[in-house]
Amino acid sequence: MSLEQYKAKRDFTRTHEPAGKKIRSKKITSLIFVVQKHAASHLHYDFRLEMGGVLKSWAVPKGFPFLKGDRRLAMQVEDHPIEYGGFEGTIPPDNYGAGAVMLWDFGTYKVLGREPLDALEAGKLPLELSGKKLKGRWTLVRMKPKDGELKVSWLMIKSEMDTKPISSRTDDKSAKSGRTMKQIASVNGKVWQSNKKSSASASATSSLKEKIRAIRAKAGK
Ligand code: MN
Repeated sequence: MSLEQYKAKRDFTRTHEPAGKKIRSKKITSLIFVVQKHAASHLHYDFRLEMGGVLKSWAVPKGFPFLKGDRRLAMQVEDHPIEYGGFEGTIPPDNYGAGAVMLWDFGTYKVLGREPLDALEAGKLPLELSGKKLKGRWTLVRMKPKDGELKVSWLMIKSEMDTKPISSRTDDKSAKSGRTMKQIASVNGKVWQSNKKSSASASATSSLKEKIRAIRAKAGK
């Protein structure tokens, strides 16, 4: 699941998500992880680990478990560029993943006892997370694909010991800006314009679509 899939799904003239490229390896002392809470058609948490110059990514629909042995489904999705890890904002309507994205947590991580890419390949990642919210050990385990299944399912398992669950207040607070999902959605709704080079026609088309949507919403359709 390469960055090419990430790029193919997005029109960078219309979303201010980073276009990104693979970062060639410098001396890496600590690897970063991020969790982005994403109010797309279904709310989920995107868990991303810096590995091999990209962010390896999983969508975790129910968020992280906190009781030892509890497990949650984590669907592996396409790699994202490293700079995506700094992204918080709104993906405009009609774009892939449209909706608010909160930088929910970030920090550094270790894979215990193995090189991260080897552990990924082997399908078992014993993780130690040192984030602002998530601290402690979780293990990602790849499940055997069922016949004909194209998506790769993993389980996110709380390991070592229980940790204190995240309060609902902290759950709705950005680790980057302190904003709530509602605040992120409303601020960016007003100024969604990309600061990257955007073609005039693309933004004209999309502002037109937004107007049509607003008119329809008023008419209750
Ligand atoms: Mn997502």
